[in-house]
Amino acid sequence: GTPTALMVGSGMGAERGILIRNGEAIQTIKDTKLIAFDKTGTITKGKPEVTDIITDKTVNESLLLKYAASLENGSEHPLAFAIVEKAKENNIELKDILGFEALVGRGVKGSVDGKSVLIGNRKLMTEEGVTFDKFEDDLIRLEEEAKTAMIVAVEGNLAGIVAVADPIKEDSALAIKQLEKMGIKTAMITGDNKRTAEAIGKKVGISHVISEVLPDGKVDEVRRLQDEYGNVAMVGDGINDAPALKQSNVGIAIGTGTDIAIEAADVTLVRGELTSIVSAIKLSKAIFRKIK
Ligand code: ADP
Ligand code: MG
Repeated sequence: GTPTALMVGSGMGAERGILIRNGEAIQTIKDTKLIAFDKTGTITKGKPEVTDIITDKTVNESLLLKYAASLENGSEHPLAFAIVEKAKENNIELKDILGFEALVGRGVKGSVDGKSVLIGNRKLMTEEGVTFDKFEDDLIRLEEEAKTAMIVAVEGNLAGIVAVADPIKEDSALAIKQLEKMGIKTAMITGDNKRTAEAIGKKVGISHVISEVLPDGKVDEVRRLQDEYGNVAMVGDGINDAPALKQSNVGIAIGTGTDIAIEAADVTLVRGELTSIVSAIKLSKAIFRKIK
């Protein structure tokens, strides 16, 4: 009967690096029409590193890093860690921050060494009245290289760009390919900008890329996908992904991700490998074919 199948399924799942929190998931997952993936920490390793620093004539590279890293020291974002790490590598002394603010989906602001500093995307700069046309070509080039480029402004003036790259997990492209081969559609939902998101989508073979989504907008995107495709599984690792994981028909958390995502999900990929999802679907099909 079904309870026995669920128990067997759990055991077999565990062998494949899949932890099942909600027994029904192993039954439901075989009916998945589309899988939506978060980008950072799900498709990519979630360990971005600084790759490019471009400065305006008014500052040099180490001064730009000093402002940027001091401010990002107040942020928990993976982008912030990358910048702080780069400053440490270059032995740059970090300064105290005053009036630190994290601006959801846009960046951070605060005062460093008595100077107001902003780091973030175009949206943030536009809101704060900082013009960045001068660096637009550089921004586009970096984004087409699948990098996330952040604009830095000091005292309301454009100071430079810091770009980071987040390596794609070794098995992401293979997992997407296998899922598509099984007739399951794939999508990516991210807060990152359109060009970077599409460049990463292209690298892993995901054509349906939904970008520039605010953290609490992911759940609406999942709802929309459910209306259009039917059963949707969502894969994510972040606190921001939790509502979308709950909304989806099967929520899948990355084992190395946040506890909040793991608690919201039905299934955990213990090793964070996306190919485990393929195993889970195959397992679900095998078990529930037999007992029908
Ligand atoms: P994601 O989790 O996909 O990175 P977020 O909503 O956290 O999405 O961020 C969206 C965008 O906002 C980032 O791509 C970046 O441009 C900007 N941003 C967010 N946090 C920071 C930060 N600490 N420093 C600089 N930029 C940031
Ligand atoms: Mg993430």
